[in-house]
Amino acid sequence: THFGFETVSEEEKGGKVYQVFESVAKKYDVMNDMMSLGIHRIWKDLLLWKMHPFPGTQLLDVAGGTGDIAFRFLNHVQAQHREKQKRHLRTQQHLSWEEIAKKYQDEEADPLGGCRVVVCDINKEMLKMGKQKACAQGYKTGIAWVLGDAEELPFDDDKFDIYTIAFGIRNVTHIDQALQEAYRVLKPGGRFLCLEFSRVNNPLISRLYDLYSFQVIPVLGEVIAGDWKSYQYLVESIRQFPPQEEFKEIIEDAGFQKVTYESLTSGIVAIHSGFKL
Ligand code: SAM
Repeated sequence: THFGFETVSEEEKGGKVYQVFESVAKKYDVMNDMMSLGIHRIWKDLLLWKMHPFPGTQLLDVAGGTGDIAFRFLNHVQAQHREKQKRHLRTQQHLSWEEIAKKYQDEEADPLGGCRVVVCDINKEMLKMGKQKACAQGYKTGIAWVLGDAEELPFDDDKFDIYTIAFGIRNVTHIDQALQEAYRVLKPGGRFLCLEFSRVNNPLISRLYDLYSFQVIPVLGEVIAGDWKSYQYLVESIRQFPPQEEFKEIIEDAGFQKVTYESLTSGIVAIHSGFKL
């Protein structure tokens, strides 16, 4: 199999990917902002926008790293729940002050409306950075951090409403195996959402993107994180990931239905969606 710039055995790829993320964990967030000029934040917001969580949604974010998707989810469901409670209270004008106070107390008791997120990642350094970020930003409840492999998830069947994987699946050695696991842990009716680098569909942008990726990103990696090789791997692994249509078929092969995708920023990334029906 490929590991960026090298050809390695399948057994070796997992270990090499582990080393890359162990090495970049401390600088991961700042490098993401630098390399994408902050655009990764918009892509992640769009993933959330597509998600449509409902009260009680159980989300599994695989390859969740430092928690970017999970924190967005918690912010979103909290705002959604608060808005719903406010609307509800406005229609309950017959309530006494005591009853209103009680309802506010209930909201305080579970400001997430029953929604929960599990962040699962194979790398304990990435999870450590995520947990530190959660503490620093005041996320106390509704989030669990689990060390685990996307290819062999440590969860029961039919457990989650939504499975997300952002910039994670191209790092997995056996993508088909990870997709089968996604299918297994989703409840019937559950949704799979994947945000990943994809294939640029505009020749001019493709040329500029190649120049930027091969000439600038490894240099940024060396200057900011002191790690040329890891960032060269990143660039190469993006080029080896299947394009939009091909990946759609791979998702369908795992059993997902109504599989669609949307290319963002001229195809630099794409969001694929599928359902377990
Ligand atoms: N999802 C986060 C984000 O969007 O910022 C992190 C993405 S980071 C580029 C890729 C993550 O995939 C790393 O945290 C890495 O440890 C994780 N990863 C790689 N292989 C994995 C596997 N087999 N199972 C679970 N996580 C994996």
